[in-house]
Amino acid sequence: MNTDTRCPCGTGNIYGDCCGKFHTAFARGQGSTAPTPEALMRSRFTAFAISDAAYLLATWHPTTRPASLELDESLRWYRLDILSSTGGPFDTAGTVEFAAYYRSVPGTPEDERVRGVQHEKSRFERVGGEWLYLDGETS
Ligand SMILES: [Zn+2]
Repeated sequence: MNTDTRCPCGTGNIYGDCCGKFHTAFARGQGSTAPTPEALMRSRFTAFAISDAAYLLATWHPTTRPASLELDESLRWYRLDILSSTGGPFDTAGTVEFAAYYRSVPGTPEDERVRGVQHEKSRFERVGGEWLYLDGETS
């Protein structure tokens, strides 16, 4: 993804100054560097948006991480609303409640098109200084 493009997570910042910083740090072997659960959640949403399964797996808590991750390439994640969040640099646990919007990728036949919103309250834990996604409750 172009670093000058507006970040998919909806902050209004360009990707290179937003979630791209955390994706790049991970790609350089620095692990999960997002400073808060909200920042990690945003970077994970953006990873969904650009189909970066490696980043999603790496930022998943080892106790709940799936062995592998098959992303649904027929869906495009296009909007994230953060509804509430807890957890900062001095905490070891936090939560993020969000709504993530998706729709079928362009070119999907009309009768197969879907769109929707995933509403979730996620839990995050800090392990060895790294914020990781623990689990979530969808509603
Ligand atoms: Zn972002």
